[in-house]
Order: sequence, then C-alpha cells, then structure tokens
Amino acid sequence: MARVEKFALHIPSLEEIVGVLQSGLKENYADVQVSVVDCPDLTQKPFGFPVKGICGQSRIADVGGVPYLLPLVQKDKVYDLNDIAKEIQLPGAFFLGAGAASSRIVGGNAELMPVVQAQKENKPATNGSYIARFKPKDGGYLLEKYNTKYHDCEFGLLANLYASEGLPGKVIEVKANRRTGEQNFISCIRKALEKHYGDKPVGMGGTFVMQKGKAKIHVMPEFSTCPLNTDEEVNNWLKFFEMTAPLICQPVLVSRDPGFDLRLEHTHCFSHHGDGGHYHTDTTPETVEYLGYFAPAEYLFRIDRPKETHMVGRD
Ligand SMILES: [Zn+2]
Repeated sequence: MARVEKFALHIPSLEEIVGVLQSGLKENYADVQVSVVDCPDLTQKPFGFPVKGICGQSRIADVGGVPYLLPLVQKDKVYDLNDIAKEIQLPGAFFLGAGAASSRIVGGNAELMPVVQAQKENKPATNGSYIARFKPKDGGYLLEKYNTKYHDCEFGLLANLYASEGLPGKVIEVKANRRTGEQNFISCIRKALEKHYGDKPVGMGGTFVMQKGKAKIHVMPEFSTCPLNTDEEVNNWLKFFEMTAPLICQPVLVSRDPGFDLRLEHTHCFSHHGDGGHYHTDTTPETVEYLGYFAPAEYLFRIDRPKETHMVGRD
C-alpha cells in the first residue's frame, strides 16, 4: 500500500470565496461575474458526467508525481481509482481531474481525463473518462472515450484529483470573458486565493467550459527513451496543439503547498469534437469566454509522494 498523508484544508464560506475571486479575476479578465448558485445538473450536456454534482465530503488527492515520468518513466507506477477512493476515506467517490493513463492497459503513454464514480459495495464503478494520445503517423492526436476499449479504473504515474460524493448543492459559479492579463483561468483563481489566504491553503476543484476561442493544449507522446532533465527538454518532447472551444475542463488546484511536494494546479479537458488534453491557456484573449463551477475541498490527501523529487515539468 502506498504512503498516504492527510491534511485539513482551510474551508472559507462560498460567499467569502466569491468576493476573493471577483476581485482577483478582475485583474485578468474584462468581464467577471462570480456568484453562489445551485450546481447545474452535470449529467446533462455538455458535461455528461455519471453524477449530478460536485458536492459532499470534498477532497483533493495528489497521487504520484512528475518525478515518476521524468527524467525517465517508471512504468511500474500504476494506481486504481477504486483504491484511491478507499485511501481518501470516501468509497464510491466521484473523481474529476487530470492524470496519465496506465500504459500497461492502453499500451503506451496518454493523457487521462478522469471522470469516474468509484465502486461502492455491490455497485460497480462508472467510468466516463477520456484519453488523448499522440499519433506519430500524422502528427495529430486522438481523443477516445475510455470505456469504448477498456473496463478498469487504472491510471499511471500521476494524477491530480477532485473527489466528492457527486451530489447536487451550492457551488461557486465563475464567468470570465475577454482576457486582459497573462494568466490562464486557473492560475488566476489560484493566485487570488493564495494572495488572500496566505499560509492557510485552500483547495478547489470542479469543472469549467471554455465556451469560445482556442486554447494551447499539450498531448504527451510516447515515453522518451533519453532522459528529460530540463523544462526545455520536456517542452521539446511534448506535443503542443491549438484546440477549439467548447472544451470541457477539469481543474484541480491548491492555493499554496503546505509541504507535500504538490502540483498546485493541473487541468485536463475533453470535447465532443475530438479535441482534448492538458490545458495551458487560451490563445484568443479577445474572444475567450469561461464558465466554471467550483467547490472547496475539505481535505488534501498526498498519496505515494516521490522520495526523489524535482520541479521540472510542472507547468
Ligand atoms: Zn497534464
């Protein structure tokens, strides 16, 4: 069993977070509207999740890490979301987030967009995840629904997960249009929280839709056979694309690392038109429109934290 560390996050009221995000996002977007709303029914389009909401016993899990991918891959690092649900003390948890697929299952490296309700007692897991992989033949990428080929809940190497009971409830709605600053949507939210809450870490997850514009997205190619030791080497290995809205995104963020070697923000996205991967930022600041639903997490779980670490490849 992997090592599990647990940390109680700071949990502000939703109303207080609304105020922090409203002023923080104003520095980076022309039109900003943040409010407390009832979570929309996430079983509906464009989400199509297996549960209605992102509320109830919310947790963030940071599993594994980039040091298992770089400088050279450690393919024995595989995890199962059903086990992770038990380790975060929430059997049957609904997971959203960003990770890597299990290479032993999918036959190679791939981006994973986990959308999974873990098994609970006699109820089997529901896996609505997507994977995106690079196609060396034509230099493109392929987005696939995971359950069309695979019937497990494995992933590999690393994942940043937001977990909840998947219930309806009150959430924070964020509308932000027309980017005027340099930060991406999630960095702006995270930095606003860090500025306000300082050394009291706040974690959030949920989903947002980039409704208009285009975005810079990467898809990992096959594992590198020569060691990748710097950000420059990693960026030369990764495959970058400009992808088109609407993109359904799955962000996980923690405002500040309380000392667990965390990845502070990680967002993967999928679409219904074949686009998907790891979100960096929009490339169309004049026309971009974001609509997101977020909830604060009560606990942070750090699972199988790498003993030997580095800061390469965490963008
Ligand atoms: Zn990623």
